[in-house]
Amino acid sequence: MLKLIYMKLPKVYEPKKVEDKIYNLWQKSSFFNPDKLPGKRKRPYTIVIPPPNITGSLHMGHALNATCQDILIRWRRLQGYKTLWLPGTDHAGIATQNVVEKELKKEGLSRFDLGRERFIERVWQWKEKYGNIILEQLKKMGASCDWSKVRFTMDKDYVKAVETAFLHYYKKGWIYQGERVVNWCPRCQTSLSDLEIEYKEEKGNLWYIKYPLATNYKLQTTNYIVVATTRPETMLGDAAVAVNPGDKRYKNLVGKKAILPLVNREIPIITDRLVDPKFGTGAVKVTPAHDLQDYEISLRHKLPIIQAIDERGKMVHVPIFYQGLRVLEAREKIIADLKNKNLLEKVEDYTHQIPKCYRCLTTVELIPSKQWFLKMPELAKTAIKAVEKGKINPVRKKFSNGVKFIPKRFEKTYFDWLKNIKDWCISRQIWWGHKIPLKGVEDVLDTWFSSALWPFATLGWPGKTRDLKNFYPTDVLFTDRGIINLWVARMIFSGMEFMKKVPFRDVYIHATVLTREGKRMSKSLGTGIDPMGLIEKYGADATRFGIAWQIMGGQDIRFVEDNIVMGRKFCNKLWNAARFLLMQKPPLINADSVRRFSLIKKNLTPADKKILKALDKTTKSVNKDLENFQFGRAARRIYDFFWHNFCDVYIEKSKTELSLPSSHLWERGGRRGRNPLHPMKAKVDDGKTKKILLYVLLSSLKLLHPFIPFVTEEIYQKLPIKNKKHCLMIEEWPK
Ligand SMILES: [Zn+2]
Repeated sequence: MLKLIYMKLPKVYEPKKVEDKIYNLWQKSSFFNPDKLPGKRKRPYTIVIPPPNITGSLHMGHALNATCQDILIRWRRLQGYKTLWLPGTDHAGIATQNVVEKELKKEGLSRFDLGRERFIERVWQWKEKYGNIILEQLKKMGASCDWSKVRFTMDKDYVKAVETAFLHYYKKGWIYQGERVVNWCPRCQTSLSDLEIEYKEEKGNLWYIKYPLATNYKLQTTNYIVVATTRPETMLGDAAVAVNPGDKRYKNLVGKKAILPLVNREIPIITDRLVDPKFGTGAVKVTPAHDLQDYEISLRHKLPIIQAIDERGKMVHVPIFYQGLRVLEAREKIIADLKNKNLLEKVEDYTHQIPKCYRCLTTVELIPSKQWFLKMPELAKTAIKAVEKGKINPVRKKFSNGVKFIPKRFEKTYFDWLKNIKDWCISRQIWWGHKIPLKGVEDVLDTWFSSALWPFATLGWPGKTRDLKNFYPTDVLFTDRGIINLWVARMIFSGMEFMKKVPFRDVYIHATVLTREGKRMSKSLGTGIDPMGLIEKYGADATRFGIAWQIMGGQDIRFVEDNIVMGRKFCNKLWNAARFLLMQKPPLINADSVRRFSLIKKNLTPADKKILKALDKTTKSVNKDLENFQFGRAARRIYDFFWHNFCDVYIEKSKTELSLPSSHLWERGGRRGRNPLHPMKAKVDDGKTKKILLYVLLSSLKLLHPFIPFVTEEIYQKLPIKNKKHCLMIEEWPK
């Protein structure tokens, strides 16, 4: 007869002693790799990670995102799916270049001192050293990514994918070079997309400037027209004065000419519907080179584009006294000169939104510039269609080639953007990135051009690889609401364009983690919470459980550490229950046979029946919750089942069956002279109660594994079960 050797669990669960050991066990097993998983697994389940920037380190948003993804992957793996969670990082053009430039600055150098080639070498060195920190942090969280498939958006194969995509569009005639007014960061020296701009409210002025009329027209009481502006310095590039077509005040002046002060150039007075008659005097200056609305007006009226500010934020092509001045210096001088000439009517206070570069917070200028564009109308149509298809297919059994947004309300952000789309300015004037693959072009591509290909380029596209065939389209994308247009929309049309299939079936927009007071978490504001600190203090399981606990639909989360503390208590409860059970020396069980006899219900007490029924119910509910991305609800269900149904009721009852003192006795000190945990002679137990105890514990470990993988695995390794698997991670989910 087989002699069972019972392993004892230490009195207290210490995450630090367990987590690295268990993570190594998993990594050595190679079961993170779908092709190495045991058994017949036909149905794939794929998630590609939103690649964090190589400059990044884990914040609460990442921790939440990673917890959700790992819960789903582990759950599906237990269910017998061929699971792939593909990790990787993004080269993050401007962000990384900025970090390395800052490092250089400390040495008194700029990137121009090094030159392009040496600078890029330097960035690669930086990447080798710091670029994988965030991936190591994900391991600490327990992320079960297939690390044999780590991708980076600047890897050789990835570069090939980017070039292929570019040339595909180019040959289609969808990529063109054009002079456009673009957002420009004078510090980063690059164009920025609308999405790369943050607006900051600032107090400024509204200046009322008199523009003399070209001739003293009769019937006019004055000989000038007054325009109101917040940016007098741009007047040097004015091409017209405009009023609203319905504005009766200026009826007589429309079609006439004014003289641009300080420059002495004649400009027409025109009408355009974009002019708001309630702003200032109702007459505005039109500066096509430095304002988007004015640029639009200029296209309608065929006005010249007169550049007055250059790439460095200095005045250019202007009268000699202003030439080379910085924007704000020019503003001061212009106001002084206008005053001298008695052309300034009045000044008002005015609060307005100033565009700032999202990387360095420098004020963004609009300047005319030669850039590369990707035509968007066709691609936008495809992207709209894909999400409309996903909407009308709520029962998602069959593959519909549609994408569904969860929560649904984020569809609006997506549709609004696509329905008003402009061509995508894909060129950037930085050095770190994918060079545009055309001869003689020095620009690099917008970072999002390469990350738009992420779901299939990571699986080997443009090659026709096995991985691509097996794992594309992926199942679900987890991401932040801030990049629905920057990234999600672009992945959807890229997937349709190159693969003819959507890149994922579901897009889950996760909650935003706020401070307890409901404020934004930010490192620079000192309001951020470092998830690594939580792991250090409470363990990865407690951190994951506490995070999952707080995910209720798409609602923002006001993060409270108490939930992590609760997570730790729960891990301890689980540990103690398992410890108690192992001390009872349960017989070796075969989980399947326990399930079978539980179905026959032979010899079962009402308590036995009740706990087995509750277990079945919990399993079903958890499945349903996870199918609907209800992580918090699922966590609460298992918690309630385990703590209340199992520990409080069933284990307590079983103590009578096993002739043990109930815990409320020994928790108060127990009976004198007796070790309360020491098993006494069983009354009439044929091992059935112990078998059920062990069976319910094992099933609970499986249900809990996706949430708290380390502690559940550690306990599993010590349980006396027949046909024990190499690890809990590849066990079978309760039926
Ligand atoms: Zn900048």
